[in-house]
Amino acid sequence: MTASLSGKTALITGSTSGIGLGFAHALAAAGASVMINGFGDAAAIAAEVSALAAKNGGKARHHGADMSRPADIRDMVADCTAHLGTPDILINNAGIQHVAPIDEFPDDKWDAVIAIILSSAFHATKAALPGMKAKGWGRIINTGSMHSLVASPYKSAYNAAKHGIAGLTKTVALEVATQGITVNCICPGYVWTPLVENQIPDTMKARGMTYDQVVQDVLLDKQPQKAFVEVEQLASLMLYLVSDGARAITGSMLSMDGGWTAQ
Ligand code: NAD
Repeated sequence: MTASLSGKTALITGSTSGIGLGFAHALAAAGASVMINGFGDAAAIAAEVSALAAKNGGKARHHGADMSRPADIRDMVADCTAHLGTPDILINNAGIQHVAPIDEFPDDKWDAVIAIILSSAFHATKAALPGMKAKGWGRIINTGSMHSLVASPYKSAYNAAKHGIAGLTKTVALEVATQGITVNCICPGYVWTPLVENQIPDTMKARGMTYDQVVQDVLLDKQPQKAFVEVEQLASLMLYLVSDGARAITGSMLSMDGGWTAQ
């Protein structure tokens, strides 16, 4: 299904952990040069860069851009272009969560969630698109969520940002539809990553529940398959969207949510 990505360059935001890191490994294994981005322990990040480079012949690099800062994002795309080539594949994946009722939602948390999820995708797409247009080929994949399609309470900023990502996906897809560039949005259900694990204490507080009740009655309650989506499953969908066989898929929202949005 997946042609070799040798000669292609992929830039994945928010990829020192979870889904983004899984995407980076899948792309490197397919031969793409990869730039990862995100926060974390410097030694752990260096180890991931080495592991990625072992898969793709040494073409891996990390950039520590803060995705809430537009100048950092422009610098990251320029650094990728200088060291690995212009991004052929851009995955707007960075994200954070904050769980609180809207009348108690801190203003700074609202601003951070909107900046890191939604505005970062605008700035990265704006910076990377000219290189794709010049080559007449590109793949932009936005990590949305089933919260791009439906809502859950206490996640006003996240749901607004993820619904915004849906609109951005469709708009950019239309703008570049004749230029060999596709733009799509993957909408995962709950995936067991630090982002999900870390929201459990606030959800316990907001709903007055125990840890196990949040996992079973809030998280898995929404997924008819009663299982978390796995990063490897999402990576396989991502690789399909990158492939030539998927070139007619653009502006689409692709759910992988264990049946959540069928309800
Ligand atoms: P994660 O917490 O494991 O990874 C998030 C990544 O983003 C990390 O690399 C982190 O360092 C980075 N990051 C956070 N803030 C940043 C910033 N300001 N600048 C740069 N990097 C930053 O989370 P994850 O679950 O892998 O989530 C990845 C994406 O998938 C997010 O957009 C999230 O909303 C989405 N998603 C996750 C789930 C899920 O259940 N885990 C479901 C649907 C969608």
